[in-house]
Amino acid sequence: MNKHCDLHLHLGGSISKDLLVEFAKSDNNKKALDDIEVADVLQLFKVVHNLINSPKRIEVSTENVIHISTADYLEIRTTPRNFSSTISLRHYVEAFVSGLQKYPEKAKGLLSIDRYKHDIENAQEIIALALKFSDYIVGIDISGINPTGTRVLQGEGLKSVIETVLDSSLGLAIHIGELNLEKERIDSTITLNAIDQWVERNQKIECAGKVRLGHALFLEEEHKRIIRKHQLPIEVCPSCHRYIGSWSKGQKHPVQEIYTDKESPVVIGTDDTLIFSTNFKREMELAREGLPYNLEKACNYRFG
Ligand SMILES: [Zn+2]
Repeated sequence: MNKHCDLHLHLGGSISKDLLVEFAKSDNNKKALDDIEVADVLQLFKVVHNLINSPKRIEVSTENVIHISTADYLEIRTTPRNFSSTISLRHYVEAFVSGLQKYPEKAKGLLSIDRYKHDIENAQEIIALALKFSDYIVGIDISGINPTGTRVLQGEGLKSVIETVLDSSLGLAIHIGELNLEKERIDSTITLNAIDQWVERNQKIECAGKVRLGHALFLEEEHKRIIRKHQLPIEVCPSCHRYIGSWSKGQKHPVQEIYTDKESPVVIGTDDTLIFSTNFKREMELAREGLPYNLEKACNYRFG
């Protein structure tokens, strides 16, 4: 079993700066070249999104992220999109898989469903694609952040997507309690109740290696109770949490309001190494400095 597993990272935000510059140069995109040097976090996400604009670049980016990672094993997540009317989600996923295939031992993929963009039909298509390439795609991520936007996947739709993933052979990683917003709290309730009911129906199934929660920063007591009841693994991303102000140096991390035991199922993820100028080694250092957990068993929670 590998020792260092990075289980929460996004493809686009984790490529090297050199590769991003190479993409901008090859497009002769002077504005992007300037932006790469001065952009803040949100702008840099946009630059990355605009420059990773073809299946070939998805494949190259996937290889790059695996190659530069200082972890022994990683599960990379990415949101499939249509690059044009003739380049479908399937082409996107095939390109992602082509990159993953070059490092079959070191990396597996998760496909992300964006709550703000994907309705149930889109979500079902993404789940079907993940199952089609299940040698390389080992789970579904549910994500998407937009404080002022309206979620298209919520309520009963969200619940049914969660149940579909749980009933399949795929793992479920879900961003939860990322922002201190009412719509996040409602979704956290739906998500955790769906997981709770599913585990109750499938008593013999272990949550380790099947479910992980991303961030889990803003949760209510009832949410925390369900998480503790099933010992649901939580992915902590130190630099991201520092950046958004959820974890100041020397302060307790919100996850410590959920888990206090040293052997709790807490895993460390880099989230976006390019955006937060970090790497897995650095994130582990931050975690070891400030969190009271034994982080050596993180690989028990991998899906692949
Ligand atoms: Zn994330």
